[in-house]
Amino acid sequence: MRRYHIVVIGRDDDALADLVRRHRVDVARHTVEQLERGGYRIHCHASSAQIRALLTAGYVVERREDVDRVGKARQVEVGPFPKTRKAASSRAVFGATRYLSVAEVEACLTGVADPRNDSFVSLITLPNTTWENRTCHALRIGRAAGGMSRPGIYLLGGVHGREWGSSDILINFAQRLSEAYRTHTGIRLGGQNFTAAQVRTLVDTKDVYVFPQANPDGRHFSMTRSPMWRKNRRPAPPGSSPDCVGVDLNRNYDFLWDFVKYFDAAAPIVNAIDPCDHDNYVGPEATSEPETKNVVWMFDENPNIRSFIDLHSYAEGIFYPWGDDDNQSTTPSMNFGNPAFDGKRGIPNDDAYLEYLAEDDRAAIVSLANTMREAIQKVRGRVYSVEPSMSLFPTAGTSNDYAYARHLVDPGKAKVYAYTVKWGSPDNPTPFHPPYGEMREIIAEMTAALLAFCIAM
Ligand SMILES: [Zn+2]
Repeated sequence: MRRYHIVVIGRDDDALADLVRRHRVDVARHTVEQLERGGYRIHCHASSAQIRALLTAGYVVERREDVDRVGKARQVEVGPFPKTRKAASSRAVFGATRYLSVAEVEACLTGVADPRNDSFVSLITLPNTTWENRTCHALRIGRAAGGMSRPGIYLLGGVHGREWGSSDILINFAQRLSEAYRTHTGIRLGGQNFTAAQVRTLVDTKDVYVFPQANPDGRHFSMTRSPMWRKNRRPAPPGSSPDCVGVDLNRNYDFLWDFVKYFDAAAPIVNAIDPCDHDNYVGPEATSEPETKNVVWMFDENPNIRSFIDLHSYAEGIFYPWGDDDNQSTTPSMNFGNPAFDGKRGIPNDDAYLEYLAEDDRAAIVSLANTMREAIQKVRGRVYSVEPSMSLFPTAGTSNDYAYARHLVDPGKAKVYAYTVKWGSPDNPTPFHPPYGEMREIIAEMTAALLAFCIAM
């Protein structure tokens, strides 16, 4: 079945909601734009049959690339698979010409944790192996034993298979930061400079946790087989087709996970309870997946974590809680834990339900997001948006809502400022994994954003 990157224009809110409710099109939620002449434009991915149905229903559809055909061609930009583990571990992202393969990401983590960096880098082995039996690793970068007085910053990537570049961004971040600290130098990224003193203070006073490849099975499958693969590789239910493999890890967290119970039946939510949904199957229960368990384990194991950034593509935007509904800061009792509002959540632009976010938290979260936005702009002038995660299409079970909600569910847990950053322009060809020349620029932008965030946090 051919799938295409398309740009769709719908005439009103209902038409947009029906992209998900009726047509089950894979929408790039955060690319939605309101048009001056009325209606909306949004980037999506759809089959030929879905495109025909959209045209019949009155949408305007601009067809771009065949994402599988062009994505297959993009797969040659992965590798080149160095022969020895030692060669792979010393492969620098800075100056590279191809995406890191799954094995290379793991080798690079070992490379950063090499004995020369022993005094300030440690390698963390995640406890749950994946469905295809891979072991994941993370890094702690920080010169002292972890303690509650040192703020921890948790950077996550590689959750969605097809979004190849997030792992490269985080490996580059870890390589550049550890190199600069060891050699007492600064870091230059396009038009953005970080001084040796800023690098030193960061590593001496904070802990940065870097988990760059949370879903290696899905990333490998996308890089070598099906370029548009998003989910993990949980086996399909017995007797079903190979399309029914996998869970969308970023709908599997324990935040309003049982969306059928918590959301209005008319909400245009992309989450799916059908395992055969190509993109958004939520899994058999909250936190059912080994990959999700690993992400959560990092929070539980490192209670000094105070902020969290989950890297995804694509929208050129920085997103903060909440994703289940529009925000409000006046009625604390109207919140995700209150059963009086079950069945009312997830309708955009209405008053029946709005998720509570305290104003001082909102202001602090947005201020740090603006720090990232400014750092990105200094690299080569791209301007990212800063907005709540909720778009015309609500979500449940995502990492950033889960991370921020932890302290509200259990007051014994630390408050975590949480973000999803969606790198890359919708206008890149194969925007989930753009041509590597463009990806290299994005790696510089995101590395700058993350460094600026860690310094400001
Ligand atoms: Zn993603």
